Amino acid sequence: MMGSFTPQDSEAGFQALFENATIGILVVNANGLIHQVNPFIERKFGYSAHELIGKPVEILVPEAYKKNHARHIHRYFESPKSRPMGQGVDLFGVTKSGGEFPLEISLAHYKNGNESLSVAFVTDISERRRAQDELKSNETKYRDLFDGLTESIHIFELLKDGSGNVTDARFVLVNQATADLFGMKREQLEGKLRSEVLGSMDADSRRMAELALQTGKRITYERYYPAINRWLAGSFYSPDRKQIVAFVHDITPVKQAEDALKSLNEGLELKVAERTLELKQSLFREKELNALKSGFVSLASHEFRTPLTTIQTSMSLIEAYSGDDNKEKRLKHIAKVKSVVKNMVDMLNDFLSLDKLEQGKAVFTSEQFSVTTLCEEVKEEMSTMLKVGQQLEGDLHEAGIINSDRKILRNILLNLLSNAIKYSPESKPIRFSMEPKDKHIVITVCDQGIGIPAKEQKHLFSNFFRASNVGGVEGTGLGLNIVKKYVEMLGGEIGFQSDIGKGSMFEISIPLARDI
Ligand code: ADP
Repeated sequence: MMGSFTPQDSEAGFQALFENATIGILVVNANGLIHQVNPFIERKFGYSAHELIGKPVEILVPEAYKKNHARHIHRYFESPKSRPMGQGVDLFGVTKSGGEFPLEISLAHYKNGNESLSVAFVTDISERRRAQDELKSNETKYRDLFDGLTESIHIFELLKDGSGNVTDARFVLVNQATADLFGMKREQLEGKLRSEVLGSMDADSRRMAELALQTGKRITYERYYPAINRWLAGSFYSPDRKQIVAFVHDITPVKQAEDALKSLNEGLELKVAERTLELKQSLFREKELNALKSGFVSLASHEFRTPLTTIQTSMSLIEAYSGDDNKEKRLKHIAKVKSVVKNMVDMLNDFLSLDKLEQGKAVFTSEQFSVTTLCEEVKEEMSTMLKVGQQLEGDLHEAGIINSDRKILRNILLNLLSNAIKYSPESKPIRFSMEPKDKHIVITVCDQGIGIPAKEQKHLFSNFFRASNVGGVEGTGLGLNIVKKYVEMLGGEIGFQSDIGKGSMFEISIPLARDI
């Protein structure tokens, strides 16, 4: 059963409350004099009750606030109501020894008979203030740390569609390095969608974000972001499976350096390869030249022996046939000497031309000339070499003026025609035709001679190659090689077709003007 609450009881209760309260209770009268204090006030301010009672309450107020305080009390008693004191202002108390501490005061008032009294409930908030200050300073410290880091740190939240798939992300908190990385102000970046800054999330990014959410594990990555033209590397994880904390650094300079190094390496490799090729080529040329020269030495020692013996014999005979009646015989031997000398000169010329070509010393000299006229001149010149019953037929079309090397083209034609004559029998016609075709002129030399054995055709343009079926026909095996090289110098092409016993057809195609 609950006992009834008598005024005596309540007074005793209040007395106990007053005495034991862990906040200070201070009663002040309308004149601002202290009427009553509880032990907490005594302890806090270091005064005993009798030192305070009857004293102006300003005794407990720091010097700086004293002046206004009396006015505040006066105003309070004009319309007293319960309220916290000094809202929005930091309040301080001063102890007997002069120490100040922050406090919070809540005011109430009551009447004791006619006397109006105000009660101030005083809480020492030093602890709370200290904790707040510490919190604030910690916060500043961490903020400074956060912002001072050169690594970009940011927190973003993931946005999902109805089926729970990640669609985008929103920057929640970013440090200065992040703002710098994206070239924005921090305030601008915070709240922005990832898609607005880095473009929409591709499948890979979505997959990584979902993995982070599902596993809570830290994911590391290294990627190129075209929207900002940077390579970023970093890691992120989701501590609460909602937001993502990301650590990012810009590795573009490293990538650029890597690329530069790579292309430098590639450049070097290319240079080395080029140089090696050059060396190989020059070694090959050197070998070819040597082969050519030694080939020539054996050819000359072989091929020159007979003509030189002929010359020697003929000269001795010319000497012997000194009388007038031997004139005819003398002339016959002189003609023989002339003919073998011509053969030797031809052979030497071939060799010298090829030597020049192989050493890259032959020069292409462009001039304008009528290719039809040239062909007609060559035809005329070669007619004197034809065997009995041979004739040059075929149409030499009007092909106008071309821009090429006249001497080289002339040499090519002489060579091909002289082969056709050499390697075909008497009475067999030789077709020599020329016609313009697609910015080129096409010249054909076609005989009905011995032909070239199919198996040997692959060697046709090699130095000193002579087919097995040449019999006693003289030659060096250098002419076609020279022809091929000359055709290339003119920017043209050469082709042939040959059937043993039936004949051979050589066709060259030369551009009307060589591309330089
Ligand atoms: P050469 O005529 O001085 O031997 P070429 O280089 O002009 O040297 O020709 C190489 C070889 O190709 C000849 O020895 C011959 O076997 C063959 N050849 C060239 N032209 C003809 C042709 N019109 N008919 C048959 N064989 C040919």
